[in-house]
Amino acid sequence: MNKTENLFNLVPQPVSIKASDAYFIFQPQMAVFCPDELQGEVAVFNEQLEASTPFKCRRTENKAEASIIIELTGGSCGSENVNAEAYKLTIGESAVTISAKTAHGVFNALETLRQILMCCKTPNKGSPFAHYSMQCAEIEDCPRFEWRGFMLDCARTFFPVSFIKKLIDAAALHKLNHFHWHLTDDQGWRIPVAEYPKLIEIGSVAPDPRHQLRDYTPKKDAFYTHEQMKDVISYAAARHIMVVPEIEMPGHASAILASYPELGCTGGPYAVEGRWGIFDDVLCAGNDDALKLLEAAVKTVAEIFPAPFIHIGGDECPHVRWETCPKCQARIKAEKLDGVDQLQSWITSKMAAVVAKYGKTPIGWDEVLDGTENIALPQDLVVMSWRGAKGGIEASKRHHRVIMAPTDGGCYLDYPHLSDPAEPGLQSVTTVRKSYDYSPLPDALSEEEKLNILGGQGNLWSELLSSQKLAEYMLFPRLCALSEALWLDKKDKDFESFSERLKVHKERLDMLNLLYYRGPLDE
Ligand SMILES: [Zn+2]
Repeated sequence: MNKTENLFNLVPQPVSIKASDAYFIFQPQMAVFCPDELQGEVAVFNEQLEASTPFKCRRTENKAEASIIIELTGGSCGSENVNAEAYKLTIGESAVTISAKTAHGVFNALETLRQILMCCKTPNKGSPFAHYSMQCAEIEDCPRFEWRGFMLDCARTFFPVSFIKKLIDAAALHKLNHFHWHLTDDQGWRIPVAEYPKLIEIGSVAPDPRHQLRDYTPKKDAFYTHEQMKDVISYAAARHIMVVPEIEMPGHASAILASYPELGCTGGPYAVEGRWGIFDDVLCAGNDDALKLLEAAVKTVAEIFPAPFIHIGGDECPHVRWETCPKCQARIKAEKLDGVDQLQSWITSKMAAVVAKYGKTPIGWDEVLDGTENIALPQDLVVMSWRGAKGGIEASKRHHRVIMAPTDGGCYLDYPHLSDPAEPGLQSVTTVRKSYDYSPLPDALSEEEKLNILGGQGNLWSELLSSQKLAEYMLFPRLCALSEALWLDKKDKDFESFSERLKVHKERLDMLNLLYYRGPLDE
């Protein structure tokens, strides 16, 4: 990439930037001319500008006085499915013009403009007549992948709504468009389900291992009310980010079992986990009441979340209890299953049908493919590949749509940034470069099979995140790197260019009060 293309130090880098020698001189108060249906996008843009820059914008009916002119017209690049997000941003000598086919495309353009304005400095600072200037340029842009996401584990560590909104806004700055909300796990159940009040009364209350050395009263309010979730959803929707809820099943179920011990194979006693790991006690697959609870949870999220997807987990479920449980064995016999592996597939297909009953499409971790040789999974089941790319490759060959988030692909952001005992994180080193170099399209797939890959996402598990700041430190700048890896085609990526731009982009992270890792980007 040449220097012109690094103009404005944008992340993710646009597909095309053409600069000219002219400058657009403007005032900090900007008038925006736009169609009525875009007033929400402009309002969010203004909110973002006011939060971290000297700029403001307001709508005007008078095109002649506008310094930003927005037109809903047509996108120009990209394949059919991602084209809806394309935009053109022209900085002319008298105005900035944005054209896009959809409101999402316009919003992407505004986020590019937000990045430019965040680093726009006045040439005559201190003057009461201060004005600002931007180099004139034409940017044409559209994403390579339609699914560009991040996951936050709010079960292991409960994060408040204010922090989730902060991350959603940071994700919008990077043009990410999906937030995967991990709401249930062994260490806590975070969503009220009307018919099962104990899920909150008991299941949301865990001993916090960070406080074991002090007098500690477990938090009783570590869950999101339905109103809070709707608030998060609309905040994200205003930023063109879809919120996808995850209800983990049938493993990672300690919080459910502590609340309703009769739903486990042994009957307990169980407790909400204060430890980390994979636990043998899972939901009893032979107990219809366990399926009823899961259905009530699915119905609840289906009613709250407008997203067309519900994530039904499926990962890390030991089968040891099922081996000796009379109810589970009776189910295997009644359903003519080969054994406990197929019993999990049976639950997956059952719950996928429940998700479909409420009008949604299921997503599952790649374990949902295990033991399914003789059990047909619904064809619309989306597979999230995390144990490497293998699951994604197999799913794609079996014509399932796939979201890539492999641990070995730089997508697990709870892993340490570099090999240094002083660095926080679990498991293997994941450098910023590793995240940057990630491509969700495995070479093992044919061109046709690659069409099943929707994109990818960065996952932040929170076992070791003792504070919001630590969560930020693990996310950034690897999430910046991933945002570009999912925005650009592999051939257009350039790590040297990214590293240069990142030096300036860090100023933006500072303006948003985001803590980030500052060490070497590569080992
Ligand atoms: Zn059982």
